[in-house]
Amino acid sequence: MEVSLQEAAALLKNANDIVITAHENPDGDAVGSTLGLMHILCDMGKKVQVMIDDDIPSNLFVLKGADGIVRPMERDAGILVVLDTSLDRIGEVEKLVHAGKVLNLDHHRTNDMEAENVYVDSDSAATCEIVYRLASYLLPPVSDSEGDGLTAGCRLSSAMSKAAAMCLYTGLATDTGFFRFSNVTPDTLYAASELVASGAEPAVISESLEVRPWNYVQALGKALATAELFDKGRIAGMFIDREIAGLTDDTGGFISQIRVVDGVDVAVVVKEKEEKICRVSMRSHGADVSRVAARFGGGGHIRAAGCTLNMTLPEAKNAIIAAIEDELAAEE
Ligand code: 5GP
Ligand code: MN
Repeated sequence: MEVSLQEAAALLKNANDIVITAHENPDGDAVGSTLGLMHILCDMGKKVQVMIDDDIPSNLFVLKGADGIVRPMERDAGILVVLDTSLDRIGEVEKLVHAGKVLNLDHHRTNDMEAENVYVDSDSAATCEIVYRLASYLLPPVSDSEGDGLTAGCRLSSAMSKAAAMCLYTGLATDTGFFRFSNVTPDTLYAASELVASGAEPAVISESLEVRPWNYVQALGKALATAELFDKGRIAGMFIDREIAGLTDDTGGFISQIRVVDGVDVAVVVKEKEEKICRVSMRSHGADVSRVAARFGGGGHIRAAGCTLNMTLPEAKNAIIAAIEDELAAEE
């Protein structure tokens, strides 16, 4: 059933013993939104646990509470909150957490809308933007005359903790490429402004997020050597075999190195994770890559999407390039 943000807030106000989760292969928005909501609910006196079925990227340990995120374990809960994905990408959490209620908040247009209580806003740049708005129904109102003398709009600036603001700002920043992508709206920037007023430190977050280990750079060099152009230069691909993938856990930023090529509409990275399991990431300047991902059971946004192909790396390369070529031809 679709719920409003007010109804979502009411569900959380009435709950105790809350488990919050997000998608496997978590990014800044998944971790930022789960931890941000955790801090807000803890400040309200709730018992909260964040559970994610994957490793947390080391750069995100800058966020308070990241070291308390647990792997899935069997337990009961008053409510399970699923952020930044439908329930199909939360791994073992779905089976192991026996929750009285389920609440799903997401900004992916490909959300399956199957959750018991679901709020999806695909105009929000990040799930953190949705959690930020939800916070205004959870936190006590702050009068305009109170606090720091900032603009009258900064309603939350003294109600939200610095820890929560840091987490929510992180997801806004990572899902918008630090406020550069086409998903940025006035609401996104307004949310970022209020989060900074509440104590989020953009420089601390961006510096922590851009640090990489040396082996990342070595892997990037090898991955760049595999880059190829297709479809008269409209598609750029990078193909990471297990040997290159073994050099670094994190290949998240690789795609941005090929999406900048002049004339390229769609950038795609195919990464062989295991024998016959390839992860695909796509970014576009115009084409709807969520439709390409959906053809293979994945999803995402118009300009950022992904899927998993149960194929060898050469098979996956052929299949995804052909599907992107089809999409570009269909959109012509
Ligand atoms: P990324 O390329 O950063 O892994 O993912 C880009 C976007 O597509 C993200 O919003 C991510 O959540 C979504 N996405 C990536 N892989 C999948 C997938 O296998 N299924 C679905 N539904 N969404 C995905
Ligand atoms: Mn997101």
